[in-house]
Amino acid sequence: MRDLAMLPSAEAQGIVGVLFDLDDTVLSHGVLTREAYKALWALHEAGLRLVAVTGRPSGWGEVIVRQWPIDGAVTENGAVHVVREGKGVAVSVSGSEAEVTARTARLDELVRTVARVMPSIKLADDARARRCDAAWDVAERQRVDAKDVAELTRLILAEGARTTRSSVHVHATFESDDKASGAIRFVRSHFGDDAGAALHRWAFVGDSGNDAACFAAFRTTFGVQNVRAYARVLSVPPRWVAPSKRGAGFAEIARAILASRW
Ligand SMILES: [Mg+2]
Repeated sequence: MRDLAMLPSAEAQGIVGVLFDLDDTVLSHGVLTREAYKALWALHEAGLRLVAVTGRPSGWGEVIVRQWPIDGAVTENGAVHVVREGKGVAVSVSGSEAEVTARTARLDELVRTVARVMPSIKLADDARARRCDAAWDVAERQRVDAKDVAELTRLILAEGARTTRSSVHVHATFESDDKASGAIRFVRSHFGDDAGAALHRWAFVGDSGNDAACFAAFRTTFGVQNVRAYARVLSVPPRWVAPSKRGAGFAEIARAILASRW
């Protein structure tokens, strides 16, 4: 992880789009600050493509794709794509209808199992806006200690699901996508960039454990300062780190990218 100030202009100039995490990257403790929103507009007005890549629900993706100056959202840790279409949005999940139905039934069963075995663990308050990802709140509206988080993770894995952890939630899914494969699938289907092109042309900005796959998948990767708290659990850390945390750090990264362009 190197200081953002060391980012070479030539590397920043090659970027055509920015993929970015939401919680504790663009959002500061859940809030979209004025400076983070201004940074999104500045990137958009400079002609960069913008795609949110988040563990948050597809229902959130539908709202931000309609309202923010962005081109799309890869939600539920890669599984669900939301893209602007005319005055509305199009939402897609990979797989046939029968496959999606079967995976949903398995996920519902897993949610019931967790409720029975660990009744003190609560689903995130955005659970109803999710299509194919279950999320339990471990650090948003309630605090769950590390021992119980580990137990929850063991339970999810024992049921055959995949699990990831954001700064606020523990996720479970039966989808095969992670944030990186979901983001690359999005970039290929909407912008025609295959994985090789995406690697060099798209930057990623994140902050925590569930961003690890994206830190590994893209060449130009940025962390906001709070990513340092996850340094030990990230197999591949971001290459560049902003001096400030959360939305303020995102704004610094946007300025660094834009400074190279004129
Ligand atoms: Mg995050």
